[in-house]
Amino acid sequence: MRILIVEDEPRICAEISRALTAVGYTCDWAADGEDAWFRGETESYELIVLDLGLPKMDGLAVLKRWRAAGRNTPVLVLTARAAWPERVEGIDAGADDYLTKPFRIEELVARARALIRRSAGHGAPVIKAGRIQLDTRQMRVTLDDAPVQVSPLEYRLISYLLHHKGRVVPTTELLEDLYGDDDARDANALEAIIARLRKKLGAKAIETRRGFGYLISSEEET
Ligand code: CA
Repeated sequence: MRILIVEDEPRICAEISRALTAVGYTCDWAADGEDAWFRGETESYELIVLDLGLPKMDGLAVLKRWRAAGRNTPVLVLTARAAWPERVEGIDAGADDYLTKPFRIEELVARARALIRRSAGHGAPVIKAGRIQLDTRQMRVTLDDAPVQVSPLEYRLISYLLHHKGRVVPTTELLEDLYGDDDARDANALEAIIARLRKKLGAKAIETRRGFGYLISSEEET
């Protein structure tokens, strides 16, 4: 699950990035409005955390341009505490939620999770598919209610597939989600992670659609 953090203060950005990475997301960073707009326009993210006070193009203008172009990625806006007209404008411009600075990082993480879940069509923090269950608050995976030990990369992958269950997720999309755009993307590594997950969750847990990608079926198994 990839998140774009748009923030011109490196210290705040690093704090947000650390907290979101610790709970299993991959983070990209944009430090000004133009870079933010370009990334939001060309890359696919599960969520964008958008500071409004930015160099080059302010956050509200960026948000309006995305929405005008039909980009409906959930956006969590960060505003200064005193700036309530900005918050109202932000919501009018298509923000899905906002936080005022300074904020507790735990609250940002909780709101980020809730926004991502809701946009994937899952209101509850627990996502089920057949015998597998994912608890996004505790970052726990269970099979027939028994806990399954997974590595951070395995968690990210199973979490992404479960959030998109019922849809064939292309290999390129998974690689992008796992590695962001900075690291080398390695399709063999992805296959190795899938193989390990199948060992832990059952051979049929993740289907391969050769030439297309991977799928977790949304049908309930018996
Ligand atoms: Ca700022």
